[in-house]
Amino acid sequence: MSPLILIVEDEPDLRATLEYNLQREGYRTRSAATGRQALLAAREEPFPDLVLLDVMLPDVSGTEICRLLRADERTRAVPVLMATARGEEIDRVVGFEVGADDYVVKPYSVRELLLRIRAVLRRAQAKPAEQAKPDVEFGRLRLDISGHRCWVDADETILTALEFRLLQTLLERRGRVQTRDMLLTDVWGVSTAVTTRTVDTHVKRLRQKLGLAGNYVETLRGVGYRFLPAPNDGAAPVMDEHPKRDGGGAP
Ligand code: CA
Repeated sequence: MSPLILIVEDEPDLRATLEYNLQREGYRTRSAATGRQALLAAREEPFPDLVLLDVMLPDVSGTEICRLLRADERTRAVPVLMATARGEEIDRVVGFEVGADDYVVKPYSVRELLLRIRAVLRRAQAKPAEQAKPDVEFGRLRLDISGHRCWVDADETILTALEFRLLQTLLERRGRVQTRDMLLTDVWGVSTAVTTRTVDTHVKRLRQKLGLAGNYVETLRGVGYRFLPAPNDGAAPVMDEHPKRDGGGAP
C-alpha cells in the first residue's frame, strides 16, 4: 500500500495544493488544520508513515507537536518533515531539539517537497531490514537498533531519529574517520540544504546526551569525526590523577 502522509497545514489553499500534489504522486493523505487536530490525526490508525508539519499553526506550534509526537510511544517513530518559513529558527527545528527528521523552507517547490518526502520515507523504510540485528554494545553504550533506543550504563538516553542514525553510523564505522561531507550524505541523506556546521551542532548535542559515553566520539579538527575503535573508559581517571606535562588539558 502507498505511504500515508499526514498533512498539517492551517492555510486552506496550501493544504488543498499539498493534498492534490501528494495524491497525484500516489500517496494517501490525511489532513489537519490545527495542532490539536494533528495530534488526533497522528494517533488514529492506520498511523501515518510521515507527518508533513507546518511550524506556524494557530493553536499549538509545530515544534511542540513534534515534541509531543516523539514523547508518545505510538508516534515516536513516525518521521516528521517540518515546514518552516524563512527566518524562523531552522537550526532549532532541525537542530532536532524537537526531533524532526528533515525540513523544507517555505515557499518550497512541489519538486523539492517530493524529493524530501521520498528521502525521509526511504530512510524510515530501511529500518525493517535492520530488525534482525542484535543489540550493539560498546563500553557504557548499548543500542537497540530496531527499537531505536539507546542506553548509557543503566540509563536510557532519548535520542531523536537523526541523532540515533548519526550515532549508529559513527559506531558502525568505528576507528575510521568520517568527514562532515560523508556524514551529511549518509546520515542526512539530502545534503544540499544543510551545511557542514549542522554536523558539528548535532555531534555536539549527541555527545552531551551521551554523557560519559560522549567521549567515544573524537573530533579530528578540520577533518571530521571518529568513533573510537575500542572503549576508553579505563583511561580517564588516570589522566585526572596525573596531569599531563605538556599542559594539554588545563588552560
Ligand atoms: Ca501556517
